[in-house]
Amino acid sequence: MPILLVFVLIAACLPVEWPQPPFAPAREAAFGLTVGAVAIVLALAGALRTWVVRTLRRDPSRRYEVARSYNKWRRFLFFVNIGTVTTCVLAFGWGWLAQRELLVFWNKSAQLAPFAELAVPLPYFVILIGCWLIYYDAERALHRVLHLGDRPFWPRSAYLLHNVRQFALMVMLPVALIVTQQTLNRYAPETTRTVVYKVASLAVVPCMILFMPLLMKPLLGLKSMPPGPTRDRFEALAKRLDFRCADFLVWNTHGASINAFITGLLPRVRYVVFTDRILEDLPADELDAVFGHEVGHAKHGHIWLYAGFLTLSLSVLAALVLFLTKYIDSATSEDMLRLRMWLEGFKSWLALPPVALVTAYLFVVFGALSRRCERQADLFGCKTMSCTDPVCTGHDEKTVYPPGGSCLCPTGIRTFAHALDRVRELNGMEHESGGRALRRVLRAVWGWLRAWQHGPMSQRIAYLLGLTDRLADEPRFQRRLFAFKCVLMLSLLVALVALGEAVGWKDLFDAM
Ligand SMILES: [Zn+2]
Ligand SMILES: [Zn+2]
Repeated sequence: MPILLVFVLIAACLPVEWPQPPFAPAREAAFGLTVGAVAIVLALAGALRTWVVRTLRRDPSRRYEVARSYNKWRRFLFFVNIGTVTTCVLAFGWGWLAQRELLVFWNKSAQLAPFAELAVPLPYFVILIGCWLIYYDAERALHRVLHLGDRPFWPRSAYLLHNVRQFALMVMLPVALIVTQQTLNRYAPETTRTVVYKVASLAVVPCMILFMPLLMKPLLGLKSMPPGPTRDRFEALAKRLDFRCADFLVWNTHGASINAFITGLLPRVRYVVFTDRILEDLPADELDAVFGHEVGHAKHGHIWLYAGFLTLSLSVLAALVLFLTKYIDSATSEDMLRLRMWLEGFKSWLALPPVALVTAYLFVVFGALSRRCERQADLFGCKTMSCTDPVCTGHDEKTVYPPGGSCLCPTGIRTFAHALDRVRELNGMEHESGGRALRRVLRAVWGWLRAWQHGPMSQRIAYLLGLTDRLADEPRFQRRLFAFKCVLMLSLLVALVALGEAVGWKDLFDAM
């Protein structure tokens, strides 16, 4: 759940006056309680590791059961870790201690040192690195008994580096941007008020999306796909689909991940990335179907759509917050004055609700858009492997595939559905079924929350297989999705114009 983590970390780095520890002596209490809490969660991780290693040593035949329990507990402990650090910051006084101890004198007043807000979520970073070091042994033991090919498990340092790289790119990059902006606000307030700075800080997000692929390659250690039959097939397929990209890249995860993704807005800075394991474990036709899914994202303009959606949405949310602030500040009615008095008591906390608002909004609205776009890309994956015969029963060497991926046939759909099914199998996802009603409901909710961007695998597969004997439903889906995208983007545009007029465009620009 990187998105949840990103917003929790951003919230921790905001200029909030964190509360004091529960008892005196304050500094010692904050420090002692936090160190104790961190030690307890690391001990829990250690206990899980020991259980996995010992059980597998004693009875390797329990490997599937152990793997399932390990994954379940590790996910559970992820939330325990976040909860523990939140408690340290909010109740044990860690946030207060960090802000108090890291002051420096600047311009005749005490200021938080540059980038010192990162010390507030510091306990989380300690837990995270500790967990990577601890879980390594459990992962290695599981790797041995699950026989993931003949590949040896990677050394501890490489495993650590792999995790650090992923975390840096997906979580720390946005957090670092916010922290840099806050540091500049403190140490160069005049600069941050200039128009050039404002425009630059607004342009950061689109620029990041545009140049992310160039950053991603060295950060994740991605390598160009070596020449060979797979690359030749992808190149031929790209030509048939009229798709251009800068390169096909391989992500060496030592068999840890079965995944593929596309990144980049423009063909010159666009990459299609495959992990080592998906290239090794998927048969050629299913791999081509997965490649087709990624091409589908580009063909349907999803990356542009997401960039536009995020830019518009964040502007609308900023305008909405400004509008509400102005409304409450200018109101004169009795109730509003009372509300204002009440809010005054939480003054130092008011940076937090907008973060919660953005998180919830992305989860619900972006989730809805993303799941529909994933289905559209799934359909493009099916079309990539489809012939022109809508009632075909199978393909052979003589099958002719139409250029551009313009047809849909039952065999193409089944090929792509098999690929999804295999990825699900290899990832060990959604295996469990049965159990009591409440457990089933909880599992379904959890499955949905985890799959908020893609939708649960089983639903994606069921939808596609259902299409094989009613191909006419596909154009209807495309029309509905087009209408959904138009309504969504137009609503955002209308909301932005209305709010911009209400609060004044200059004020809105200044507030961004
Ligand atoms: Zn996708
Ligand atoms: Zn066919």
